[in-house]
This record gives sequence, structure tokens and C-alpha cells, in this order.
Amino acid sequence: MSSDIHNPVDEQFRDKISTVDKSGKRIWIYPKKPTGKFTNYRIWLSYLFLIILFGLPFIKVNGEPFVLFNILERNFILFGIHFGPQDFYLFAIAMLILLVFIILFTVIFGRLFCGWICPQTVFMELVYRRIEYAIDGDYNAQKKLDAAPWTADKIIKRVSKQAIFFAIAVLISNTFLAYIVGLDEVVKIIQEPISLHMGGFIAMIVFSFAFYIVFARLREQVCTTICPYGRLQGVMLDNKSLVVAYDFVRGEPRGKIQKNKTISQPAAVATGDATGDYIASVQNKLGDCIDCKLCIHVCPTGIDIRNGTQLECVNCTACMDACDEVMEKVNRPKGLIRIDSIEGITKKGNKLINPRSIAYTGVLLGLIILEVVLFSLRSDVEVLLLRTGGLLSQENADGTISNLYNYQMINKTNDTYQMEFKMLEPASGTFEIVGGKSPTVEKNNKAEGALFIKIPKGQLEGGKNKIVVGVYSEGKLVTKVKTTFFGPIK
Ligand code: SF4
Ligand code: SF4
Repeated sequence: MSSDIHNPVDEQFRDKISTVDKSGKRIWIYPKKPTGKFTNYRIWLSYLFLIILFGLPFIKVNGEPFVLFNILERNFILFGIHFGPQDFYLFAIAMLILLVFIILFTVIFGRLFCGWICPQTVFMELVYRRIEYAIDGDYNAQKKLDAAPWTADKIIKRVSKQAIFFAIAVLISNTFLAYIVGLDEVVKIIQEPISLHMGGFIAMIVFSFAFYIVFARLREQVCTTICPYGRLQGVMLDNKSLVVAYDFVRGEPRGKIQKNKTISQPAAVATGDATGDYIASVQNKLGDCIDCKLCIHVCPTGIDIRNGTQLECVNCTACMDACDEVMEKVNRPKGLIRIDSIEGITKKGNKLINPRSIAYTGVLLGLIILEVVLFSLRSDVEVLLLRTGGLLSQENADGTISNLYNYQMINKTNDTYQMEFKMLEPASGTFEIVGGKSPTVEKNNKAEGALFIKIPKGQLEGGKNKIVVGVYSEGKLVTKVKTTFFGPIK
């Protein structure tokens, strides 16, 4: 983490992570239930996310999944379009776009993705944690219950909570599998005898336990110690990046409200509304932070954001809601913790457009254009037409010259194609397929064979000629192939 991204307070908190004590033991986090404007936005966004995540595997286009990432059979469908191993270059560019986008997004908006869109946070904070609040109560009740002896009430709460946790893990696991093998296959694994789908059944069990452990036990440890994206923050953030930040200029020196004294309100100075209470507080030399520690209590990663930007912060904005509520109660301006950059806090201004963000945007746009161009050139059936090596051209009695070719067709779709060849350039060329039958290429399969191309001698320009072959199915052009044709050397 850049040493610039913090306020000038004690740096000892950086020596250890917030969830580990001095003896190396994990400190279990009991975050206070967050409420407020940003929490509500996140809840609504999580509904949208969950509808999309659980709904997508049910969507079919012409009987095919709308999305499928079948790594095992190397069959990928994105928005109803089939992709095969031959399209790996598109996949590689898409991954590069994603990487540059993540870097660009992080450089400008910090780790906002983690707190608002990442499935780990959505499930942890907006599904599992809310169930926990509903069963065990808020953070103090949870701590009390954990410390309490095993009574009937505690057993009922524990068993019901863990059962619901595991049921949701099974649901996530099945959905995850539906993205890999398709919904129909998942239904078969559930309905048919286990012996027929042993591999799928084992995967279902393994994933279910993995998700259960992640959300019931590992929790914030995934974000603070396991996730590589979180570890990269140190090199991606700078003083211009927007992050959840504590306004230490306005907040410090922090201090509890003392009876009969109201603490400073810099906004009042700016507007000339300074009251007698405010003047008293100026003498008190305290900032707007009343040191209530609510921002720490609501933090799901257990950090004190007042120490400055930290790797553990997932930008969930819970502390912003907590602090805004406090500021409202003590009649001070909201936004003591807000989304801002260090430059925005110290200089009261922030330039999001800087050489680094311009450079990343340029690379990102270039990659997107490249992907769109390559995608538009891609066809559902890939055809390779190569002259058979070691053979010369042959002159026929009818005045044509023939060359022997090998063809290979790769069908990336779930339809079967009956193919025909037509000469496009020169149009007078004809075909003679070895074996006599037009090739049929089955769904997600390939077809290979050989054919002769015959071109009238007068149409050839010399030894090496460029020709264009059209590959058709049911009268529709599927793809065009450019290749070379050898004629007699003049
Ligand atoms: S919630 Fe706000 S006022 Fe309370 S400790 Fe945190 S920053 Fe200070
Ligand atoms: S510091 Fe604030 S934004 Fe960061 S993880 Fe904690 S509560 Fe969320």
C-alpha cells in the first residue's frame, strides 16, 4: 500500500491484520447490523445480482443454455453464441479486457467492486449475515449467545442457522454446476440414480461443503488474506483513487462530546454560522469525530477506517452509513467518512482524469475494438482448406487444371450442417469431392475430407493463383475461404 494513502496517525495497526490476535489466533468478527442509505442501495443491488445469478441458467435460446462454461467438454456459450477451443484468442483478449478494466476501475474507484458486486461479499454480507442477524440477533446478542452455555435455545438457534447456511451452500453449488454442465444435467444428477452421475454428484457435494466453509467459517478471511485482487490494491491505488475514506482533516483531533459543549463544525465557519457553542468547541480544539467507534463496530473486516486506507477494506460503505447516522444525531454535516480520494480530502479537489487513467482507458478501448472486430469476423463453422502437400497441378482433357485439397470443418454450434462448396473467385471453377458426397458436419463436431478444385486453364494467371471458395449450407453462405491454386508455369 502506498505510504501516502493514510492520515498521519499511529502506523502500528499495519503490523498485523485486524482479525488475528497477538498469539496468532483468529479474532471472530461480530459486525453490528448496518442500516442506512448505502446499505439499502446494496440490498437492492444484491436482489438484482441474485436474480441474474440464479436466473441465467434457466434461460434457453432455441433449446440451448444462454450461458454455459463447460470446461470439461470445451463447450462455451455466451449470450446464446457458441465458442470452441478455436476461439481461444477471443477468450484471451476478453480476459485481457477484463484485467485492464479491473485495473482501470480500481485506479479510479478503488475497491468498490469488492463491497458492491463481488459474489463473495454479496452472499456473505447480504445473504448469510442477514440470516445470522435474523436468528442470532445483532452483534451484542451474537457475542452473548456464543459465550452462553449450551441451552435448548442455543442448540435450536445453532442447528437451524447451520442447516439454512448449508442449504444455501447446496443451492449455490447446484447453480455453479449449472453454469458448467448445464441445468438439464444438474436436474439429471438430482433426479436419476447416483450411480449414473457419480462424478457430478461428488462435485455437487464438494462444492456444497466448499461454499458452506467459505460463508460459515472463512468469511472475511477470503477478502483479507486469500483473494489476489485484494492483495493487488497496494500497486493500483494512489492518492487520486476514490476509496471509502475518513476525512481526517475535518475529523481530527477526535474526542468524545463533553457535557454542555458542542464540538467544532467547520462547515459553520465556512458559512459564517458559527454559534457560541461552536466557539466554545474551537477552544476545545476537537474535530468532528466523536470517537463513538460505530464505524469500527459495523465493519465486516474489523478495521478502523480512521487509520487510513487499508488492504482489508472492501469498500462496503457500512461505516459511511454508521457515521452519517452519528453526524445526523450530533447535528454535524454528513460525510465525515465518504467516498473520496486522499487528494480530495487534503486539497479539497480531485482530478480523476490523469495520465495514468487516460493510458489505461486508451488500452482498454483498443482491446475492446480489437475484440469486436475479431468477433464480427468469426463464423459458427470454421473451415480450413489446404492444398495437399507434395502434389503438383494436373491438366485435364476438358481444358481445366485441377488441384487436390484437404478440408477440415469445425462446427461450433448445436446444429448439424450439410455443406456445399461454390467457387467465388474465379466463378468458373468447379469441385469434385473425393467420395462423391457433400460433407455433413455434426453439432459440436468436425468433418474432414479431400476435394479437387478445377479451374479452366484460361482463367489462371500463372503458377500461383489466389482463389476464394464459398462454403454454403441450405443456400446460405456460412464462410469464405481464401487459398492458393497452382496452375502450369507459363
Ligand atoms: S462513526 Fe464517525 S464519529 Fe464515530 S468514531 Fe467513526 S468516524 Fe468518528
Ligand atoms: S472500513 Fe468501512 S468500507 Fe471498509 S470494510 Fe470496513 S465498513 Fe466496509
